[in-house]
Amino acid sequence: MRIVIFGPQGSGKGTQAQALIKVFDIPHITTGELFRNEIKANSEIGKMVASVINTGKLVEDDLTLEVLKKRLEQTDCQKGFILDGFPRNITQAQALDKIVSTDQVIELWIPDDEVINRLEGRRTCKKCETVFNIKTNPPAKENVCDKCGNELIVRNDDKQEAIKKRLELYHQQTEPLIVYYQKQGKLIKIDGRPSISQVTESILAKLK
Ligand code: AMP
Repeated sequence: MRIVIFGPQGSGKGTQAQALIKVFDIPHITTGELFRNEIKANSEIGKMVASVINTGKLVEDDLTLEVLKKRLEQTDCQKGFILDGFPRNITQAQALDKIVSTDQVIELWIPDDEVINRLEGRRTCKKCETVFNIKTNPPAKENVCDKCGNELIVRNDDKQEAIKKRLELYHQQTEPLIVYYQKQGKLIKIDGRPSISQVTESILAKLK
């Protein structure tokens, strides 16, 4: 099963992908995390993308595709994957269609005010990147990751100015994917506002 999941930041893509990988036993691939790993490793790519990412802008398409291609070539992707954070625009969607055929595309929708509300409460583990929300999904102990015990932080791109920039980019560049995938007959539209488990159920009911 090759699935793409897209939606505005904070719509719950990562959370839902985590539920789906257990059901389908496939890896969850997120280009944002691939980039953050490069930054942590202080690699050449990491140095090139750090400032772009920290201000909430998009990394150049060719470089993003290169990083993604390398990841999709790994053996765990042979049985499928859930792709989250890619494609983010039509050019990337066309590039993806050239390297692999996807089966289903999930659009996880939430309104803008909900995006802002959710992202302002988001805290991410510095080490393992597990995401919590101080309003809706708090850790057991304040500012400490339940999974690995490291500190929780506000990601630079979850700060207010970056959130606005990212939302603007989403509407301009990513939303046209709705029509693109509708034309391919692959689009599944899901309301991301109900509880995490209700959203997972809706997705599973609609996946063929
Ligand atoms: P995310 O964790 O998906 O919000 O990604 C964090 C950041 O990584 C984004 O704000 C972009 O700067 C960069 N990024 C991730 N995926 C892509 C992509 N498909 N195209 C361009 N930039 C990306």
